[in-house]
Amino acid sequence: MPVPAAATPAAPGEFALIERWFARATTERQGIGDDCALIDAGGTTLALTKDLLVEGVHFLPGTDPAALGHKALAVNLSDLAAAGASPRCFLLGLGLAEASSAWLDAFSSGLFALARAHACALVGGDTTRSLAAGGAHGPIVISITAIGSVDPATYAGRSGARPGDDLWISGTLGEAAAGLLVRQGRLELSDAARAACLRRLDWPEPRLALGRALAGLASAVIDVSDGLLGDLGHILRRSGVGAELDWAALPRPEGFAHVPEELQWRCVLAGGDDYELLFSAPRTARERVAALATAALPLARIGRILPGGGCVVRAPDGRPIGTTLGGYQHFAPRD
Ligand code: ADP
Ligand code: MG
Repeated sequence: MPVPAAATPAAPGEFALIERWFARATTERQGIGDDCALIDAGGTTLALTKDLLVEGVHFLPGTDPAALGHKALAVNLSDLAAAGASPRCFLLGLGLAEASSAWLDAFSSGLFALARAHACALVGGDTTRSLAAGGAHGPIVISITAIGSVDPATYAGRSGARPGDDLWISGTLGEAAAGLLVRQGRLELSDAARAACLRRLDWPEPRLALGRALAGLASAVIDVSDGLLGDLGHILRRSGVGAELDWAALPRPEGFAHVPEELQWRCVLAGGDDYELLFSAPRTARERVAALATAALPLARIGRILPGGGCVVRAPDGRPIGTTLGGYQHFAPRD
């Protein structure tokens, strides 16, 4: 999720913009609306995804370039994880105001450490100077296109959630959003919680092994990049269903108990950048899903899919909470 910026009223939101100008009928729009597009490459099905990071929008100026290299690839691998894909290779587009060797050393070390860990080779890209009006330094712009391979027979996408399915989330929610608030001086946490939240914000881990293990088990999967409610909304709309979430079941960060309730809701329900996998699965798969949890990556059953539409989050006493919160959207009035 990007750093909040000034309001831009009376413009279409990010998803209305994509739908109006870029989504085209049937064959041309394979995959628009899912985390990856699936392309039949004759015997192999490729999963393709692209993410764009812009300085001042997605990360603050002065961000550790090693973390940036890691994160630029991690957010793309996270989309491959949501598709249940195995990474194959990636392309790197880079716009830089200046070619600083120190910056490039750190950026490439962060990038390649993650690429190596997932056997994902850099196979091309494009590099350009980034200038603003009048020749001033422009923002750093990083765009990665990642390519993986996937089994189309077990691919879930976002449209297969059915009433009665359980809703699950991996790991914890809200840590990255809390990390951003900490960095902006808007939230006080203990030293340990502060370090954990900043690490989560800067060094997200794509859940690739879990994504592959969910193939054939989950009915719908998405990675949570723009906040739980917003990304769940994508599953609900594309599946034509509604959902109910149990606030008490949502995995919150450690050291969060003293944080005011409304701020907890904002981080856990609407905070972005967690890159956990949110998925639905039939109740009959409950035991098999639970067996995929590990000490390093727990899985929480956080609610259920209902007929109808929309999502309600219920407190333990049944009252709905956080009803005004949504996911992050570029060009939304509050963007
Ligand atoms: P993610 O968060 O996984 O990157 P989103 O939830 O933002 O994806 O979904 C946006 C959908 O629209 C994705 O399928 C993405 O590929 C597609 N999309 C985004 N921008 C464009 C664009 N400029 N042209 C075509 N498709 C786009
Ligand atoms: Mg995604």
